[in-house]
Amino acid sequence: HPTAAPLLEVRGLSKAFKGVQALDGVDLQVRQGEILGLLGPNGSGKSTFINVVSGHYPLSAGRIVFDGQDLTGVPAHRMAHAGIARTYQIPRPFAHMTVLQNVAMVAMFGCASLDEKSAEREAWKWLEFTGLQGRAQALPDDLNLHQRKFLELARALAARPRLVLLDEVLSGLTPGEINEAIELIRRIRDQGATIVFVEHVMRAVMALTDRIVVLNHGKLIAQGHANEVMRDAQVVSAYLGK
Ligand code: ADP
Ligand code: MG
Repeated sequence: HPTAAPLLEVRGLSKAFKGVQALDGVDLQVRQGEILGLLGPNGSGKSTFINVVSGHYPLSAGRIVFDGQDLTGVPAHRMAHAGIARTYQIPRPFAHMTVLQNVAMVAMFGCASLDEKSAEREAWKWLEFTGLQGRAQALPDDLNLHQRKFLELARALAARPRLVLLDEVLSGLTPGEINEAIELIRRIRDQGATIVFVEHVMRAVMALTDRIVVLNHGKLIAQGHANEVMRDAQVVSAYLGK
């Protein structure tokens, strides 16, 4: 999609915690309809990127432009309303609600005019999409890791986002479950969503991404096609911890 206008553009994106520059002047464009892989060693700022772009953490400096709108400094509920959804590296469902209610709740947040019945109908659709329809009445604690990860995806999708930020949804899954998840992520994109995908499972990165970017110590150190970037000497040494 080289000619498409960027759906998301961040400029000089920075986030400092006490004593840690978690993001340090990141410039990045995400094109409409692409799957962008966000890679980097542990602690390089990947989750912080998702937290800042989704409005969960305030940024320290920089700009966030989404679909031509300046959303710098906008809080999470307004980012969600603008069409940005995210998953958590460690799934965070509402523990006392069923799987179905968890997804319906997000559908209702996303569309104030939706009554409970319509929200549940909408939720069923996403449970079927993620293969969780058989667990609709279960509580999140009764799900296995694979199901918890897919519930996290269903909840993100129920908000009908234009941009989905996925934080290590494949970690801990078996090879068979990873194949299923790869197929699911493809179908999410085929429905028209743009995806930023933080992942360590290289097989999935190679299979899914149109382009990757690599962070190291909060700085963007490389970007391009996955197979080219992963040969880059700077990237290799970042992964080796040099
Ligand atoms: P990654 O997801 O790439 O492993 P993170 O974005 O989680 O990395 O973390 C980047 C850096 O920011 C790390 O040094 C981490 O300890 C720090 N960090 C992340 N979140 C917080 C927080 N809420 N408070 C303080 N430091 C944080
Ligand atoms: Mg992380």
